[in-house]
Amino acid sequence: MLSCVQLFFSLALCTLTAAAIAETERHSRPNVILLLGDGMDQQQLTIARNYLVGSDGMLVMDQLQSLSSVRVQTVAPTRPGRSVYVADSANTATTLATGIVTSKGRIAMDYRGTGELPTIVELARRAGYRTGIVTTSSVTDATAAAFATHSVHRKCEGPMDLPAAVDWYGAKIDCTAQAIERGGPGSIAHQLSSAGLEVLLGGGRRYFEQAAYGGEKRPLETALEHGYFVATDSDSLAEAPLQRPLLGLFAAVDMPVMWQGQSQRKAEAVTHSTASLAATSFPCVANPEAAAGPSLKTMTDKALAVLGRDPQQGFFLLVESASIDKQSHARNPCGHIGEVGQLEQALGSALDFAKQQPNTLILVTADHGHAAQIIPDRRSFSFGDKAFHSPGAVARVQTPEGSVMMINYATSVADDELHTGTNVPLLAEGPGADTIPAYLTQADIYRLMVRFLNLQ
Ligand SMILES: [Zn+2]
Repeated sequence: MLSCVQLFFSLALCTLTAAAIAETERHSRPNVILLLGDGMDQQQLTIARNYLVGSDGMLVMDQLQSLSSVRVQTVAPTRPGRSVYVADSANTATTLATGIVTSKGRIAMDYRGTGELPTIVELARRAGYRTGIVTTSSVTDATAAAFATHSVHRKCEGPMDLPAAVDWYGAKIDCTAQAIERGGPGSIAHQLSSAGLEVLLGGGRRYFEQAAYGGEKRPLETALEHGYFVATDSDSLAEAPLQRPLLGLFAAVDMPVMWQGQSQRKAEAVTHSTASLAATSFPCVANPEAAAGPSLKTMTDKALAVLGRDPQQGFFLLVESASIDKQSHARNPCGHIGEVGQLEQALGSALDFAKQQPNTLILVTADHGHAAQIIPDRRSFSFGDKAFHSPGAVARVQTPEGSVMMINYATSVADDELHTGTNVPLLAEGPGADTIPAYLTQADIYRLMVRFLNLQ
């Protein structure tokens, strides 16, 4: 508008431009950008906020139009309606992608693992929208997979997993029934390579290069047959043409995280003394392995350039910061703080894009809660004969605002911390964001997106 005032001598041109913009907006189709922080509950957000912007500061997420509390639902694999109170990423992503509550491990399948559930990516494609998925994990990992593929279990990632997959406890999973020669859809990687996504960016090269099994080609071969431009590093991602479907595989499995503890410190068993308290704290530093990129923001920028190049088509884009979860499993506070930071930067890109195409609904949510929590600092050590300390592992993180934040992990005595059963946040910006209820379910988020894209 400023340029219209300044260029008063070309008023006719200016009026025409404004009319053209209005006309474009009238015909522009809606876009949905769903940003997902894996394991990003309010504890994770508070930990990240304290470190990234200080306890008085506000994250980009904190400045969106609405904040709601989301109920996370899971059912048992054997009995419909029997609640399970702690979820995994597969069943929750399935609910977000299909609107149906299912059992742990399922990838867009019903609770028994026998019926495929149509996903929002499939519905959007059928309606002519472009679709894309960006993640910092392997693109075959549970969250990404549940939006565009169907699998009895999340571990059926690559061709060689079909006869050899095992679950978290080492029990064998038989994925051979989904082999192509047996009439199935193939491994998750194979399905992704032919799912028709315009953009698929993340890690997972290992699964796309695996040898054929049961009638399935190497997924990378299938992707090339479907016309994909394949990027393998930051340079090739930057060079990728906007007009071709884009597959980016930047790591063998998961992409490196942005931050780590100084001297690679993580949470440790409690020191039963206050004598060496000062020596137990540490700040976060950059992880050199992540320096070459691409970052989640860089991948999101490219995805938006490909998907949003034609406002008349509209798109659905999932952007996942996956290692908030993985670093909380590993008791690495700097790891998960940095990955919330990555989601913040990607959200910044989404908000910038929405200024150009206002018919864009931006949603930020999580799939489930996680182990990390903030506990009182010095009280967690022993004083004299009295022990107050946590039975778990703790990390004393030096924050940039000059304090110490004690992070506690105490859900497991094994190497791997566990998910928790709390509600997760939903933050929203865009048309209708201010009408989202204060309390809803993950299935409601699916219905909200489907309504906005006018898919039903
Ligand atoms: Zn997890």
